Amino acid sequence: MTFEQLGLAPTLLKALSDSGYTEPTPIQAMAIPEILAGHDLMASAQTGTGKTAAFMLPSLNRLCKPSVLRSRGPRILVLTPTRELATQVAEAARTYGKYLRLSVMSLLGGMSYYKQNQILAKPVDIMVATPGRLIDQMARGRIDFTRLEVMVLDEADRMLDMGFIDDVRRIAAATPETRQTLLFSATLDGQTGVLANQLLKKPKLIQATAVTERHENIEQQLFYSDDYAHKNRLLQHFLSATELRQAVVFTATKRDADDLAGKLKSEGFSAAALHGDMNQSMRNRTLLNLRRGVLKVLVATDVAARGIDVQNISHVINFDLPRDTENYVHRIGRTGRAGASGMAISFVSVKDQDLVRRIERYIGQRIKTHVVPGMEPRRQLVRQSKPEGRTRHQAGVARQGDRPGFKRNERRPAVARSAVQGRSQKTGVTVTTG
Ligand code: AMP
Repeated sequence: MTFEQLGLAPTLLKALSDSGYTEPTPIQAMAIPEILAGHDLMASAQTGTGKTAAFMLPSLNRLCKPSVLRSRGPRILVLTPTRELATQVAEAARTYGKYLRLSVMSLLGGMSYYKQNQILAKPVDIMVATPGRLIDQMARGRIDFTRLEVMVLDEADRMLDMGFIDDVRRIAAATPETRQTLLFSATLDGQTGVLANQLLKKPKLIQATAVTERHENIEQQLFYSDDYAHKNRLLQHFLSATELRQAVVFTATKRDADDLAGKLKSEGFSAAALHGDMNQSMRNRTLLNLRRGVLKVLVATDVAARGIDVQNISHVINFDLPRDTENYVHRIGRTGRAGASGMAISFVSVKDQDLVRRIERYIGQRIKTHVVPGMEPRRQLVRQSKPEGRTRHQAGVARQGDRPGFKRNERRPAVARSAVQGRSQKTGVTVTTG
């Protein structure tokens, strides 16, 4: 399958060829013809699958023809949960639409109203917005949806998780009934399914990836650590490794991200923090430095788990595990971009065992436990099955006073080793009519 065969306009094909894309990804091959045919679409797709181009290219295709309606409002509206994702989607629109004369604008919380109002006073073709700020500007009467043709809900599940359901409904209600609606989400069940039923008309359903298939190009490893100091030693070890190009290190809190970034800087790493307490221009500057390779280590909270798309990120390190299993998948997806291989390392303590199990259940595979020679933990969870023909006691696995399932780690071999076997599942791609 080629992009030419999908029926896209020559100006878009030229931009794609400039981007170096040779063939559509599976989600693009499936979604683009359905969207070009005018259908509503419900697609389960993760970042990293090429989903942005899957909805942006056919939407841009519409803009090759002028609108028949006289209005200055957007013809395409994309709603995203976070500012980072919105910025990235707007960038994609500019990249793929570079040979069309387009006006693309982002409407994001944190931006100055003065600047935003100036932009809103001009005609706009593509608007990428976070729901809160858009509602705000709608209430001020600054948004005209008269000529809106396409509404995209990107990462819809995340938007709903963040409590935007009423805002999304209100925004949809203000758009023309004739619009085409495209919903992209990691999961299509639960609240997302309910919303899709309300907003989409006879949607085509596309499932490009199953949960279990995601991130097969990313090697995932667990490292047991005893305390904060131990985590720091492990972190130093990985950040100093020659194979590490750029890394995103995730911490549990904004304060931890600031502290850790400060500490790494004092140790000579080019590091910076990224979290929700920073103003938008600081966040943009940090992301630009990451993209330009000026920054080697980004220490972030989950605000950065989605949206960051820097192909040189070779490692994601969970200094702290996320409480939310879905965020684990989004975090590790910051590496292994566009088919490259990546490494996702998580520091865990024995107290994290339930969380590790939940994450493994969610991703449908076991994450192997490793140790760094010389930095072995005092205790780590051992999860292989009982050695055959020997009792746990005979095998020397448990000692008096240990909790079942844990093992003291006094004599460790000098090589990294695995405690469990990973497994991955292949799943097919389906297109059905909903
Ligand atoms: P997304 O899933 O939209 O976040 O895209 C993930 C990455 O894949 C981005 O860096 C895109 O630039 C890249 N990408 C999208 N479509 C293609 C394609 N057909 N060929 C190669 N790279 C692509």
